[in-house]
Amino acid sequence: MSSTPTIAIVGRPNVGKSTLFNRLTQTRDALVSDIPGLTRDRRDGVFEVGEHTLRLTDTAGLEDASKGSIADRMRQQSMAAIEAADLVLFVIDARAGITPDDEAFARIARSSGKPVVLVANKSEGRAAAGGFYEAFKLGLGDPVAVSAEHGEGLSDLIADVASALGLKITVREKARRGDDEEPAEDAATAKRKPLRIAIVGRPNAGKSTLVNALLGEDRMITGPEPGLTRDAVSTAFDWKGRPILLFDTAGLRRKAKITEEAEKLSASDAIRAIRFAEVVVILVDAEHPLEHQDLTIAGHAAEEGRAVIIGVNKWDLIDNKQRHLKDIRDKVANSLAQVPGISVVPVSALSESGLDKLMQAVFSTAEIWNRRISTPELNRWLPSALARHAPPASSGRRIKLRFITQPSTRPPTFVAFCSKPEGLPKSYIKYLTNDLRDTFKMPGVPIRFNLRKSDNPFEKRRGRSGKS
Ligand code: GDP
Repeated sequence: MSSTPTIAIVGRPNVGKSTLFNRLTQTRDALVSDIPGLTRDRRDGVFEVGEHTLRLTDTAGLEDASKGSIADRMRQQSMAAIEAADLVLFVIDARAGITPDDEAFARIARSSGKPVVLVANKSEGRAAAGGFYEAFKLGLGDPVAVSAEHGEGLSDLIADVASALGLKITVREKARRGDDEEPAEDAATAKRKPLRIAIVGRPNAGKSTLVNALLGEDRMITGPEPGLTRDAVSTAFDWKGRPILLFDTAGLRRKAKITEEAEKLSASDAIRAIRFAEVVVILVDAEHPLEHQDLTIAGHAAEEGRAVIIGVNKWDLIDNKQRHLKDIRDKVANSLAQVPGISVVPVSALSESGLDKLMQAVFSTAEIWNRRISTPELNRWLPSALARHAPPASSGRRIKLRFITQPSTRPPTFVAFCSKPEGLPKSYIKYLTNDLRDTFKMPGVPIRFNLRKSDNPFEKRRGRSGKS
């Protein structure tokens, strides 16, 4: 390998190679146009990974040469670019899925013998999950989901690039977390990234009191934070050395005069807070726990994929504490069955008790929400789950599930390949989800379990005329 490793961005037209090129190079604003030895129809730039400088070659200029199918010239140029590279960034469009052109380029990349990092671009939003999964069958390893346009997934990509090149980098620690920070951010900043918490609940549940109790006199308040929406009341503080950004809906609600208005306002505050938060603490009044509005908010938070904690406040007013707690836990289990294992933590904001337990629950749920389970672990689990409880048959044929992987965290999101996704009953998906949750110990967070149609991702595609 030369002293400056060279990376070629390769892929069919329109997958977003140039956008990715710009994203990566602009992080250091160091476009280099006159690196010798490269032809004019490639664009070259540099970007930095930790203390390493990498040279990036974009083959996007070649796209003009292609009309309809891939022009020969383009293929040759890609080959030349790959030939000159130490690493190939192979880009696909996750929204479009895998096309025959992708497959043609993948063959070139594979046959080069160069290390390849497979990039599933345009991965923002749900429409991309399908293409992400299809990408496995290119035989170029696990895809990394990014959105070059939105700057998402770049830290994962950088980490994969560094590891493929055998580089040690300081940003490595934050990789695989599914965060969307820019790669230029250093590890220290990433580690100090605050956990975003929202405290929501009905009026008078005690939110303001809890916020004050959490902030305390002695704790450093560094907010309000700039850069958030203007009407967001957020406060930065540390809890036992852990940085927190707290979204406090209580302050906003005060403006409301009459109760009805207050209820309405508090619901829309809650929705905004949930959008902002990683962990949502739903604070309920122990004397009137889990009323309709509480459950609606909790359901919404789960729907939005947030980690959920239930704080039961005014615990000081409760006589038969044990019995009461059990009743509330039962009610949570029944009413929020879509997210088993939600933590229910009794607190007294007024007497400042239970705060530590509440925050511990917040941190451990956030950890689960960020967790990534490796593809091999998942594929050891899948057959055992299928064996314990076989999938049903559809039109006389047993539905098969062959491969599972976790494309993203926050919340944990899984995709399994299935011979007939539309035939698999919801109850079976629920079984798999719950088994996955139990096996990998992921209580209290929503889990997304998607199915993708495929016979077998590793099987070579049969001829186009044949039914696959
Ligand atoms: P918010 O509307 O959710 O912000 O609720 P507040 O924080 O304004 O509290 C509503 C009322 O409940 C106030 O009178 C508080 O003093 C009271 N309160 C809050 N927390 C507790 C608690 O832990 N125990 C008791 N007994 N009262 C509390």
